[in-house]
Parts: sequence; structure tokens; C-alpha cells
Amino acid sequence: MVVAQHRPTRLLISQQAIAHNLAVVRQVSGCRTIFMAVKDNAYGFGLLPVSRAVLAGGAQGLAVAVLDEALVLRTAGIKAPILIMSLLDAQYAQACADQQVIVTVASLAWLQKAQHNLTGTAPLLVSLGLDTGMGRIGYRDRAEIEESIRFLQQHPTQFTYQGLMTHFADSDTVETDYFHRQVRRWHALTDGLPQPPMVHVANSGAAMYHAAEVPTDIIRIGTVVYGMEPSEGTMRPDNYLDQIERLESELIMVKHVPAGEGLSYGHTYVTPTAEWVGTIPIGYGDGLSRKLKGFPVLIQGKKCPIIGNLTMDALMVRLPGPLPVHTPVTLLGQDGDQRLTLTDMAQHTGIAPWELSIRFAERLPRKLVD
Ligand SMILES: *Cc1c(COP(=O)(O)O)cnc(C)c1O
Repeated sequence: MVVAQHRPTRLLISQQAIAHNLAVVRQVSGCRTIFMAVKDNAYGFGLLPVSRAVLAGGAQGLAVAVLDEALVLRTAGIKAPILIMSLLDAQYAQACADQQVIVTVASLAWLQKAQHNLTGTAPLLVSLGLDTGMGRIGYRDRAEIEESIRFLQQHPTQFTYQGLMTHFADSDTVETDYFHRQVRRWHALTDGLPQPPMVHVANSGAAMYHAAEVPTDIIRIGTVVYGMEPSEGTMRPDNYLDQIERLESELIMVKHVPAGEGLSYGHTYVTPTAEWVGTIPIGYGDGLSRKLKGFPVLIQGKKCPIIGNLTMDALMVRLPGPLPVHTPVTLLGQDGDQRLTLTDMAQHTGIAPWELSIRFAERLPRKLVD
């Protein structure tokens, strides 16, 4: 992967904003322990910089989707607890035990298979995943859960019964029937079971909107800490969160174009009058959606619309006048009294804010700032 260090385009991540958002979630949910979801390159913001910022800013653990993400964190020297939230093949059980990574398990058969691969030098930390209605992964049968807990307790050199979890399909909408059905199912599956050290059920939506109804001592969250309102503002205006990212670049070319000229691939934009056009070195190759055509960038505190198709490496904007090359450009973040957020981009493109952020390409340099 190539990171473009010799180009003025970069993604700055604010440690202060991350710490602020962590504090907001802690206060609203009353949680003691936060496992921060840093899967998929920390929702696109950068696995290592974000992991360091959240651990410094108030999270106790990290949550990933695949073993490889956990291994990158351990190789980077991160010693915090790591939870793998997806299922992995039992052949990797020993690697997880070696790295002290907590795995999610959804069947007794998996435990029996893993047992053959575990030497017992360090026990495998197991969090049992329960499917209460998400329909993705997890136990659905109480008898099998009880049998699995007995199995873990009978093999203490190989396994530690570390956690019980479930995941909500619908925690961030005004309609709460489905959420409450999952809570009832959770109780039916778990009431009276031996309690492990970690019971963790709340994602961002549950932690922000349902803290009184579910256990929130330990939570697994991503979205809110990344400054994205889980309901995209429908449950709560998004002004209680700080924007963590600033995507910036500069003008690399400025020209005066006569009326009637086509711009960019396909000439979908033709200048209606003579106008000043600026070129900015960021394109869909950096992860921007091509649906951002017409969306503004900020230059000297003013909105300048993207005109013509985005190209892989650059895009063009209409300028208010003949600005100098190297004039700073803000694609996400504050400039004067204007601000652009991922939620704004989501409204323009019809793509969810977190789906826009996970597209940020490896080519964009990411840098932690205060
Ligand atoms: C991604 C994920 C989370 C974090 O969800 P947010 O809505 O971003 O807070 C929590 N739990 C599981 C199982 C996940 O896959």
C-alpha cells in the first residue's frame, strides 16, 4: 500500500475530539469499561492512530472483526484487552490464546474443536455470543449455552469463561419494539446463568438511547466516538459530539474557463458562463464517493461546489474568483463559520456516514493532532 506523503491532501484526527466523545458516552451510558470498535481500519480513520488515541482518551479495550487486526495491534506493542467480535476458525485458537485475545464463540462444537488445538500454556479467553435477534452469529438455544459454560468450567487450563454478549439490530431508531424483543430474549437466554467477568451488549445506539434498559457496565462502541450520531440526528441532534476528522488539501491549479466548456470525464458539466475553476488533488481513488458531485468544499470560509465528475486522483470546484495556487481547501471540518461533516456528505450521497468513512483509502495520510 502506498501512502501519499508528497501531496497536500491529508486526514487529520483530533485526539481531543475522540476524548470528548468518549466522555460523552461514559456520562450518558454510565459505563465503567469501553471496548472501542476499531475494526476495518478503525472505521477508515486509521487502526493504529485511532487505537492509541482512544486508549489515551479513556477506552480500556479494543474490539476488532478479524484476528489479523488483533495481530497488527499486538505487533505494534498495544497490550490492552482485545476482543474479536466475529467468528474465527478453531485452528486459530492457540494463536488467540498466545496473544491474550478474547474470542467470540457461538457453538459447543467450536469449543470441542478448539480444545484439540490448545496446549494449555495460557487459557483461551472466551466470550459467548448470543443471537437474540440480530440473526448474524450466536447461540440461539439456552441448553447449548449452559452446556458450553459447563465445558469451559471443566477445562480451566485451556479455557477461561470470560464473557457473554449479544448485539442489537435496531438500537438507534424511534421504533423500539424490536429492540425490546431482543432485550426480553437476552433475559430468557441468560437469567440465572453463571456470570463471567465481562457482560457486554451495548453498541453506540444502545449506550446512547437505552442505557437504563440494558447492562452498560462494559460497552462496545464505535460510531459515537467517531463523532457520527448513530441515528443520523433522528433520535437526537448531533451537536453533542465533536467532529474527529479534518480532511484537507489545497488548490494545485487555478484557471479561467470560458462559457460552454465541458469539464472532466464525460463532460457532464459545461460552464454556463465564464468561471474560475480550481483543481484539488483528491478523488475517488482516495475513497470519496463519485456521488459527491455538487457537494461543496470550503475555501476561505466559503462553499465551492464540486463540478464535473470526480476523477480517481483529483476533482474540480467552481471558485468565487482567481485564488492563488496552494490556497487551503477543507473537504471535511471547520473553515470560518462553515463546517462539513460526514453526516452532510451522507445526506448528499445517500450513503451512511460510517460507510463513507470506511472508504477512506490507504493512500490518504492519517495524522493524529490535538
Ligand atoms: C461494529 C460492532 C459494534 C460497534 O457498533 P457501533 O454501532 O459502531 O457502536 C459493536 N458490537 C459488534 C458486535 C459490532 O460488530
